[in-house]
Amino acid sequence: MSKEKLCILGSTGSIGTQALEVASHLGITVDAICAHSNTKLLEEQIRKYSPAMCAVTDEEAAKQLKISVADTNCRILGGKTSSSELAACTSADTVLNSIIGFAGLTPTMAAIREKKNLAIANKETLVAAGSLVMGEVRKNGIRLLPVDSEHCAIHQCIGKNSHSEIKKLILTASGGPFFGKDKEFVRSAKPEDALKHPNWSMGRKITIDSASLVNKGLELIEAMWLFDMPEDKIDIVVHRESIIHSMVQYRDNSVIAQLAKPDMRLCIQYALTGTAKKDGLTPELDFAKLGTLSFFDVDNRVFPSVDIARHAVRIGGTAPCVFNSANEALVDLYLNGKISFGNIFDMLSDALRDIKTVKEPGFDDILDADKTAREYIYSRAK
Ligand code: NDP
Ligand code: MG
Repeated sequence: MSKEKLCILGSTGSIGTQALEVASHLGITVDAICAHSNTKLLEEQIRKYSPAMCAVTDEEAAKQLKISVADTNCRILGGKTSSSELAACTSADTVLNSIIGFAGLTPTMAAIREKKNLAIANKETLVAAGSLVMGEVRKNGIRLLPVDSEHCAIHQCIGKNSHSEIKKLILTASGGPFFGKDKEFVRSAKPEDALKHPNWSMGRKITIDSASLVNKGLELIEAMWLFDMPEDKIDIVVHRESIIHSMVQYRDNSVIAQLAKPDMRLCIQYALTGTAKKDGLTPELDFAKLGTLSFFDVDNRVFPSVDIARHAVRIGGTAPCVFNSANEALVDLYLNGKISFGNIFDMLSDALRDIKTVKEPGFDDILDADKTAREYIYSRAK
């Protein structure tokens, strides 16, 4: 058998850098990497992992990188569409998509059409275009495995049990840095505080999403597509310690949970090994040291994001895409000091109320919905 090869989209990010570590640990060859503009880290990665190809979606950064790695054998692709070109033409068997945001959608589709197995961290792809992505997955008969810790947990909890035996999925949420705070406090929270996640070290966008609990709304929609579950059969419970990564409740009311230290390398390894359990990089749990595990309801009055996500699902069509793209714009504005934390909740609801949706969207409808949602948010924040 030929040696397994991997393509990592978003190799310079939080998931991407951990994926490189896991690939080294598993002895998987890194055939291709991609990022937006971090040429310094890309150069280091090219010199360390010797990929055959590297895509840089920022044109200027690609030109720079071409010069700085001219002494290597790495082929540099540059420009907006280079992530998709790379996903399609890599000789890797598996593509791990850890690009942040909607920009991950086109390369996801390109990888599936070339019949690559997919490890997907880029949840925004599934939220924005779940029916199109899952349709292509079925058509091309590829393996799609989640990297998101909750979905990785659910995948393990389901194992070989049949879909008809499942009563509901229970996604756990850490509650983020503002757990237990009152509405007034949360609505005026500052970015430096929102960026302090209690249990996970992640990229800036997902850290803000975790603080607003929009991340849990995105994950609810992600779970619907991955596990073919309706929204009303997915519960969310706050679990402060992030030790139980999610659970599945069966028809007999027995619940299977997956536990581990909060460490994304475990989830990345699960997706890269095609679910095989091998020695990993995550340390063991010490139950006596853990002591207690705590659980709480989500305070929907302070954090209405999960309810807003459920509303988007019930509208259907392009509404989840609007929810996602509006949120991406809102996080950008919030991090740049242009809006308050509370505006995120209000403007998400406004976008869903005001933007007309398309019922059974094709790819162009999704692209339109993305554009319209961003324009809507940016124009109102002026
Ligand atoms: P980061 O912000 O740390 O990294 C994002 C990566 O995407 C970087 O490599 C960045 O390149 C690249 N990128 C950004 N824009 C583009 C673009 N237009 N084209 C190609 N590449 C681009 O994000 P995270 O690693 O935190 O998150 C990645 C994905 O994984 C997200 O969808 C997130 O929701 C999901 N996820 C993350 C978890 C985590 O623990 N971090 C946990 C569960 C899910 P550059 O550095 O050059 O800007
Ligand atoms: Mg998650």
